[in-house]
Amino acid sequence: MADKVDILALLPDEMRSFVTGLGWEPYRANQVFKRLHGKMASSVDEMVELSADMRTVLKEKAFIGYPQIAERTSAQEENTVKFLLRLFDGNEVEAVLMQYGNRDSLCISSQVGCKLACSFCATGGMGFVRDLTASEILGQVYVAVKTLGHRISNILYMGMGEPLDNYDAVLRSIKLLTAPEGYGLSQRQITISTCGVVPGIERLAKESVQVRLAVSLHAGTNMVRSTIMPVNRMYPIGAVMQACRQYQLKTGRRITFEYTVIPGVNDGPDQVRALAEVLRGLKYHINVIPYNPPGGEKPKIREAVSFAQALGNAGIDHTLRRSRGTGIGGGCGQLAAGKASRIKRQGSGQKEDKK
Ligand code: SF4
Repeated sequence: MADKVDILALLPDEMRSFVTGLGWEPYRANQVFKRLHGKMASSVDEMVELSADMRTVLKEKAFIGYPQIAERTSAQEENTVKFLLRLFDGNEVEAVLMQYGNRDSLCISSQVGCKLACSFCATGGMGFVRDLTASEILGQVYVAVKTLGHRISNILYMGMGEPLDNYDAVLRSIKLLTAPEGYGLSQRQITISTCGVVPGIERLAKESVQVRLAVSLHAGTNMVRSTIMPVNRMYPIGAVMQACRQYQLKTGRRITFEYTVIPGVNDGPDQVRALAEVLRGLKYHINVIPYNPPGGEKPKIREAVSFAQALGNAGIDHTLRRSRGTGIGGGCGQLAAGKASRIKRQGSGQKEDKK
């Protein structure tokens, strides 16, 4: 595949250059793009607008970088579906669909594993294997839509991996998902969740995309945050907040902060006081999330309720979120639990987890 073009990852103008390079009329680019992103074609044979000869040429020159569904697990009572997706090289990632009334949200992955090693996160425990390509990222949406038979309205870059550590592929996938001649997703229905990669937040502020930003904060003080999120040693809370303020100044958008309540670690009154201080002057909302311990223990809901009350008493804007998908290992921080053995490490080309 190395000498073939991954056509699912081509933006409309790149598709035009590609098809004209094959000696085809430019209008063919629109036909191929619509078939890939509007009809979610996973094979060249589905491109019925093209002649048989053209399809043969396309198969020789290009491939469609779709992941395959290896496993699908449902938790009916929670309206949650978890997809285990196999990539072309045998690596696997997960995507989780959550249904709320007639609104669906799909949480998708951006990397196989992760470099950032947050202590409460199963993905962080896997180490880092590789970045996903743009087509592997948006392909998670298309395979889920095709399997379920209906459109998915909200996309969360909140699955395995740190999206801002795979910035270019993530941004490309957003441009492709929101292209009006393709899937046509509204940019405002996309949320990027970061653990506070400051250069990525600064870069995102300069883009013209109107996506929502969520920052995993999980502590009010550097001392506590550094113990559960090693990334805090590189980008401490002050630097993250400064980037968030700049982001808000440029975009005017409210920022969501995620706070997983780990009993005895980040739920003390000192954290509440520190949060009130660091959030002052920002337009924000905190999602309080019960900790989902790995290994099938029940989510720590009681402690999350108490912490949410303490935030309320301090006048901090928040919502206590229900844990979804925990019964199928699809809750926050649970993705890839028990799946580390399925990672295919790739010898010399592999990037190592530096953390
Ligand atoms: S929480 Fe996100 S950034 Fe942290 S280790 Fe898990 S996937 Fe990586």
